[in-house]
Amino acid sequence: MRHFAVVGSGPAGFYTAEALEKAYGGEARIDILDRYPVPYGLIRFGVAPDHQSLKAVSKRYDKVAESAGVDFIGNVSVGRDASVAELLDLYDAVVLATGAPHDRKLGIPGEDLPGSHAATEFVAWYNGHPDFADREFDLGCERVVVIGNGNVAADVARMLLLPRPELECTDTAPYAIDALAGSSVREVLVLGRRGPAQAAFTNPEVRELGELTDADVFVDRAAVAADETSAAFLDSDAADATNRKNLESFTEFSEREPGGKPKRVELRFLRTPLEIQGDGRVERIVAAVNRLEVDESGAVRARATDETETIECGMVLRSIGYLGTGIDGVPYDAAAGVIPNERGRVTGDGSKPHPGHYVVGWIKRGPTGVIGTNKKDAQETIETLLEDAAAGTLPERDAGADALPALLAGRGVDFIEYDGWQEIDALEQERGAAAGRPRIKLTAFEELLAAARKERNG
Ligand code: NAP
Repeated sequence: MRHFAVVGSGPAGFYTAEALEKAYGGEARIDILDRYPVPYGLIRFGVAPDHQSLKAVSKRYDKVAESAGVDFIGNVSVGRDASVAELLDLYDAVVLATGAPHDRKLGIPGEDLPGSHAATEFVAWYNGHPDFADREFDLGCERVVVIGNGNVAADVARMLLLPRPELECTDTAPYAIDALAGSSVREVLVLGRRGPAQAAFTNPEVRELGELTDADVFVDRAAVAADETSAAFLDSDAADATNRKNLESFTEFSEREPGGKPKRVELRFLRTPLEIQGDGRVERIVAAVNRLEVDESGAVRARATDETETIECGMVLRSIGYLGTGIDGVPYDAAAGVIPNERGRVTGDGSKPHPGHYVVGWIKRGPTGVIGTNKKDAQETIETLLEDAAAGTLPERDAGADALPALLAGRGVDFIEYDGWQEIDALEQERGAAAGRPRIKLTAFEELLAAARKERNG
């Protein structure tokens, strides 16, 4: 019998467990560990609540968790409750699927003023993440500036502008529904440092910005007018169908007559934030006006001109990407925010393999791609692991999955197994059904643990 630990229960972790199960059938025990008492990582805490159909992928993960050889063990923080080295004594291999939990910093003055937040924190807050549920976002201002042109920026822009009925049919945390529906925000200005052809949004997310019930979308016509650099970019291999379709949508937005809706969302390109200013809190942002140029590698870069623009606003959401974090005892490339690896096999200095250590998902490849990208990624990591098993470099441990609960219990760790999560799930759905919503999330650790205990205490 093989014993595997997967650390992290987001999409990458679950696709890894699924691939291991497929490879080994009933010949493997797979424990999926998570530091939270609930599974699914960014499906629960990252995907925008108005994208309920995307969150439904968790049903597939339920099937994995319910299979005989797989266990979910939540409320266990690897590095604190058990080290990776200890796990490697118990399991044949440890696959780290720990994601990229932090935000990238802009590194500009005023970034830490009250009212300037990482979009990742805002996302975690409205999704009821227990570490962020008590954050406060002052939505008493009229204009919010969102920095970045990726899907997280699109998500937070949309969420800021949804009317109450469209929030109430989601699993947005109740406190966030009240705050968002009662907010004074009338305008969301999304700043991109490059042009519309280089935006990182995917097409449906762009289109959604043009379909908001309460907000008209604006793009300046001059911004979408063909310029030489973008035309060359769109003709090159660097551009793909997503870039071209995005540009079509932005062009269509730029040609629209305002529909008289009470709110607006504007996409403004070629702006790099220089400074966030205000007397004790955010009052404005100063941005450089950029032009595009092509560097030696052929990449399209933003180059600041001497022109600047000052935009009055009451809140800034910095949405320039997630960042990974290291784990004790595992090599970490802090600059890239990933654990160095070859096709999922962790490598140390000089690409020397660390036996039994594997990675998958954002901590393997960086914070890019959509949910499904992790499936292929997990398959690659498991192919590597199978090669190692075939080459005899993967030890076989006897203790495995049976020994972990004892180790954790001995340390007083109140771990939650899958049946505990099912109790939480049932309670959230029951509360949701009573209110005509998909679920009402429990957002405090104590509430989650108490709900899970109902099962264990009978
Ligand atoms: P992202 O897609 O990597 O976008 C980051 C954005 O920040 C880019 O526009 C980037 O511009 C900009 N940026 C980076 N550094 C900057 C700086 N110093 N100043 C100004 N702008 C800067 O990241 P994300 O939005 O966090 O999304 C992460 C991943 O999750 C993506 O793969 C995304 O597609 C995925 N996701 C998917 C969904 C969905 O499927 N609905 C929802 C949310 C997230 P440059 O392009 O110029 O570098």
